[in-house]
Amino acid sequence: MKMLVAAVLLIATPALAQLPPGMKMPPPVKVGKPDTALLKAATAEAPATLATLERLVNIESGSYDTEGLVAIGNLLADELAARGAQVERMQGKPGTRGDIIVGRLTGTGTGKLLLLAHMDTVYTHGQLAETPWRVADGKAYGPGIADDKSGIAVILSAIKLLKPADFGQLTIAFNTDEEIGSLGSGDLITELARGQSAVLSFEPTTAVPLEGMIAGTSGTNSVFVHIEGKAAHAGNNPELGNNALVEAAHVIAVTKDMDEGQGKRRFNWTQVSQEGSARNMIPDDVTLIGDLRDISDDRVRAFETEMKRRLATPSVPGTKVTVNVQINRPAFTADAASLALIDRARSIYQEAGGPDLFVLPRSGGGTDAGFAARAGVPVLEALGLPGFGYHSSAEEYVLIDAIPRRLYLAARLIRELGR
Ligand SMILES: [Zn+2]
Repeated sequence: MKMLVAAVLLIATPALAQLPPGMKMPPPVKVGKPDTALLKAATAEAPATLATLERLVNIESGSYDTEGLVAIGNLLADELAARGAQVERMQGKPGTRGDIIVGRLTGTGTGKLLLLAHMDTVYTHGQLAETPWRVADGKAYGPGIADDKSGIAVILSAIKLLKPADFGQLTIAFNTDEEIGSLGSGDLITELARGQSAVLSFEPTTAVPLEGMIAGTSGTNSVFVHIEGKAAHAGNNPELGNNALVEAAHVIAVTKDMDEGQGKRRFNWTQVSQEGSARNMIPDDVTLIGDLRDISDDRVRAFETEMKRRLATPSVPGTKVTVNVQINRPAFTADAASLALIDRARSIYQEAGGPDLFVLPRSGGGTDAGFAARAGVPVLEALGLPGFGYHSSAEEYVLIDAIPRRLYLAARLIRELGR
């Protein structure tokens, strides 16, 4: 027994050294024998997954690219129909581009699952010409290939590995505005998640230094502070005005310490907008915009109260300061059932020959897991492919050799939860 513990430590140590600072690997999970038939089928399916990825990458689908989002939505509706799904095109809130494609598959099992991935990318039209689809050194490259075309491709292949007895109902939802906060589709995702046995979300995972699961995401919120002053000529009679810009400087000075640092509440002023400004005029209308990330709606409201307290008395007499905090995407915090799913995923992944997965307690970004978790059901995040370079200026890629084990992970999880 002691020998075994020592061996585990020896294996675990190099991985530990590569983890981001402050993170440790969770205790090891028990690993069973692989389902060899499923692993074989997943391995045989992998080239088709790669072919799907190529087709998806070759349709540019930035969050604001209506034409691209419609084209990729049409392709996905056809792909789901070809797999026997009933396809519904759903509308997000007014202004949402393209349709949210929802497919439903009915089996003979008892579990109901929602599988989530998003069609939109962070890129603008033309990126594909600069960084076209290519395969080199075991990696496939292209804009949005990891985030989140890999999630879509894994879902489309994983459902081919299932039998009707493997699930009661599968609902598959592909939305078009995840990268811009899912303001149009978020409520719909919460509705689709209601009553499900679990929600599996297929965002990509990191490829380096290690692959991982996500136990929490940060909620994203917008902070608006509007300052109303009084305009006056800057040269003739500035003393008749109330300078909203000077008051804005005061607002920044007394709130900039409301950021709590890494792993805690993040708050930063990011934008300023001015109405009717001119160089020779005392400004009377300034809005400061800040980015706030926190772990619960309650904490966001507490932040708002604290900011209002600090800004109750303007430093420039005669100015009026109004604080408004808007919750864009709720945070996700894995509950006990979701944490149990993470351990199950870690076990299955190793069974398929994959590495143990680290568990990120909370990412600085938000995902649709937050909207799904609002329905009060277990949510598992980051079942897409391991990738690199998403949301950065580096060329985005996924690891090709991870495809079979990722398909195995998805199919086996669905089967266990769905039967
Ligand atoms: Zn994403």
